[in-house]
Amino acid sequence: MVDLKALHTRLANELDTAIMDVVRSGAYIKGPDVQAFEEELADYLGVRHVIACGNGTDALQLALMSLGLPQGAEVITTAQSFIATAEAAALLGLKPVFVDVKDDYNIDVSKIEAAITAKTVAIIPVHLFGKPCDISGITRLARKFSLYVIEDTAQALGAEYICDGQKMKAGTAGTIGCTSFFPTKNLACMGDGGAVWTNDDELGRRLRMLASHGSEKKYHNTAIGINSRLDTIQAAILRVKLRHLDDFNNRRRAIATIYNKRLADIKDLITLPFFDDSYSRHVFHQYTIALNRGNAEIRDNVRDKLKERGVSSMVYFPVALHKMPVFEADNRRVSLPNAERLMDSVISLPMHTEMKSEEVEYVCQMVHEVLAEVL
Ligand SMILES: *Cc1c(COP(=O)(O)O)cnc(C)c1O
Repeated sequence: MVDLKALHTRLANELDTAIMDVVRSGAYIKGPDVQAFEEELADYLGVRHVIACGNGTDALQLALMSLGLPQGAEVITTAQSFIATAEAAALLGLKPVFVDVKDDYNIDVSKIEAAITAKTVAIIPVHLFGKPCDISGITRLARKFSLYVIEDTAQALGAEYICDGQKMKAGTAGTIGCTSFFPTKNLACMGDGGAVWTNDDELGRRLRMLASHGSEKKYHNTAIGINSRLDTIQAAILRVKLRHLDDFNNRRRAIATIYNKRLADIKDLITLPFFDDSYSRHVFHQYTIALNRGNAEIRDNVRDKLKERGVSSMVYFPVALHKMPVFEADNRRVSLPNAERLMDSVISLPMHTEMKSEEVEYVCQMVHEVLAEVL
């Protein structure tokens, strides 16, 4: 699915130097690369405060902690995401309320208002697979109902959207943005890492304090926080890779363009990713198609047959969040038909920066072959 070693071989000179500089410096925790990376990422995103942290899940947790939300408050999020999005809320005693998705796999903004109650405090949109959500619609609702917006940008770093007529980096229009640097993400380190950002000075201060045991001054802790840090060595790696992020994302977009072109003739069988540059810049963390007919068994059969031909694939995600055992009891009466259909019909095809055009062509040929056989 992804070839991380090939990327690291290509950037070996830059990465080896950055890593060995940290090794020799001895400053493994809170070394100078951490602050430098925070500043460079803040510049790249066009935001005032970036706080590096331990991983993307911590980033979401810190974001919610910093807002001081009351127990039992409701946060609205999408039914199609990685568990962390809802888990961070539930861990803090908040109730995730799931909203259905559209065919582009992102939260259906037209369904959010019906999910808002007197207890709702925030919306957590996820820019899934690298495609930005309808952020103008989300921020409009947030203003109307006085809600915070926490953007899960773990799959979309470097994507762009237009919010109220203004072009911005995905993740920066809401109250707080969060991301992950897990090795397969668009901007990735060689272990765990994450970051959280905001334009609000007071929230920026609180986020930094909470990520550091609730202390601004050592041994004078003022709040219950957590210990969530980005290692210096990971920050040094990320500084190198941030310089290449736009190139990485352009390559992903070029691969998606080949896929879309080569699969266009079977649009009656599969739904291709929605790719419209007029209001957003998709950065294709995943290239995900959906079978228009069939069920999970047929989908899995398609994947098996692709595998026999040397094509690996993944399912993101086989269980919608409201159907997850941990959330099911609270959501027995919730029906989200699109998310429930997609969890049985999606297939993510190989997508990574080092993929060669011939490899993409081969995958497309195999998709044609297998679908002709199975459907
Ligand atoms: C990867 C991911 C996370 C969590 O990131 P970790 O660094 O693994 O904790 C959260 N949300 C989404 C949508 C993700 O893809």
